[in-house]
Amino acid sequence: MKYFILAGLLSGAVFANSNDLIHRPKSFPVTGGQAVFVDFSEAVYKITYDATTKKALVRAEISFDAPEAGLPIFDTVQTPTSIILDGVKVDAVEAKTPSRETTLRYVNRSVSVGSHSMIIEVPLNELLDFTSEQGVKSAFWTSDLSEREFMERYLPANFEFDQVKMTYMIKFVGTKTKQLIFTNGTQTTEGDWIKISYPSHYTASSIFFHTVPEGTVEYKRFTLRSIDGREIPAVVYYQNGPFSTTNLDRLQQKTTDVFTELERDYGAFLHPQIIVYNAGSGGMEYCGATMTDNGALGHELFHSYFARGVMPANGNSGWMDEALASWRDGGYRSTTTLSGSSRMSAHEYYTRTTDTAAYSFGARFMGYLDGTLAARGKGGLKPFMRHMVENKSLKPIFVEEFYKEMSAFYGVDMEPDFKKYTYGQGIVTPAKADEHVHKKMSLQELRKHL
Ligand SMILES: [Zn+2]
Repeated sequence: MKYFILAGLLSGAVFANSNDLIHRPKSFPVTGGQAVFVDFSEAVYKITYDATTKKALVRAEISFDAPEAGLPIFDTVQTPTSIILDGVKVDAVEAKTPSRETTLRYVNRSVSVGSHSMIIEVPLNELLDFTSEQGVKSAFWTSDLSEREFMERYLPANFEFDQVKMTYMIKFVGTKTKQLIFTNGTQTTEGDWIKISYPSHYTASSIFFHTVPEGTVEYKRFTLRSIDGREIPAVVYYQNGPFSTTNLDRLQQKTTDVFTELERDYGAFLHPQIIVYNAGSGGMEYCGATMTDNGALGHELFHSYFARGVMPANGNSGWMDEALASWRDGGYRSTTTLSGSSRMSAHEYYTRTTDTAAYSFGARFMGYLDGTLAARGKGGLKPFMRHMVENKSLKPIFVEEFYKEMSAFYGVDMEPDFKKYTYGQGIVTPAKADEHVHKKMSLQELRKHL
C-alpha cells in the first residue's frame, strides 16, 4: 500500500507539467548560446495603478523549470526595466525566431537544468486610461490574428503551450472611485491588494481582465443552472451609454440560450463562471468569458469549449477551434465534397497566430469531415467533439493529437484528410482576408471599449 501511494505521488508530480513539456517548442541557437523554452510553474503579477502619477507598473515574479540548460525564453512586448534571475541582475535580448515568424525575448545568462526564479518589471502602457474621475480603465484583451497579442502584450508571459498557476495582485493608488474588476478568476483581498487567483490550467490566452471605475458600465449578475447541477455565476455588461436595462435583459436571455445549446451539444460548461462584455464590436474568447457583440456571442461562448476548453498548443493548431466555431455558426452544414486546400496546419514552426482560412475553408473542411464520416456510418463529427470535451479539455494540444484522437475514435485513419486539406498537400486556396467575427482591432480601436 505504501509503495502504491508513493508511486501515485511520483506520477502525480510528473503529470503536473508533462503536458507542458510535450508541447514545449524546441530550443534554437542565438549569439552567445542556445535559447530555450522553459516551463513556467507559477507567476505572481503585482500590478499597481497609480492615479496620482497616471502610471501603471507590473512586477512579475516567475518560478520556472528549465528542462534543458540555456538562455531562458519569455516574452513581453514592453521592454523590461529590470530583470533579476536567481537573485542576479540580468538583461534580455529581443530576437526573432529562426524563420523570423515571431519575436520573443531571452535572458542573456544561461541557466542549468532545474528550478529557477525570475523577477521582471515592465511599465503597463497599453489599453490604460486614467479617467478624470481619478479612476482607471484597463484591460488585457488579446487576439490571435497578429503576433504577440496574448498576455505578453501587457505582462511578461510564456508562449501559449504553457499552463501556469497565475495570480494577479492589484493595487489602486489615489483612485477616488470604487474600481470594478471583471475577470475569470477568484477575487479576495490581502491588505491593500486585491488578489485574483486563476486556475492552474490557464495559459497566456486564458485570462479575461477588465477594470473600470464604478458607474462607467451597466451590469447584471445572475446564475445559470448547469446540467451537472452547478449554479454558475454569470455577469453581462455594457459600457454606459445609449443602452438600457432592456438590453441587459436581452443579453442575459441570449447568453442563457447559447449556454443551453452548448451544454446540450457538448456537455456541462467547463468553467466556473461566465462573463459577457457586449462591447458592440470585435469579439474574443477567454475561459468562460468574452468581449463580443450580439452577433458573435454564440461563436465566442462556443470557444469556451473549443479554444479555451480544448486548447491549441501553438499557432498551427489555432485553426481547429475557429473552423469548428465557424462550422457551428453556419448551422453545421454537412458535405461529402471539398475542393481546394490550405496550409492552416503548416506554417513556420514557431508561428503563434491563427490562419484566417479557418473561418471559411476550415469550416467547410469540418463540414466535409462530418459528411464523409456520416456517409461511412460513423455518425458525423459532433460525437467526436463531445468526446474531446470530455477527455481532452483544459490542456493544450497539437493538431496532430487532434486527428490521431479522431482516428482512434472512429477507427478510421484521418491523417490523409488533414494532410491533404490543412498541410497544403493539394491545390491551395489562397486564404482570403474574410470578414469574420474576430475583427482585427488596433489598440486605438480597442481603447474605445475600455
Ligand atoms: Zn473564433
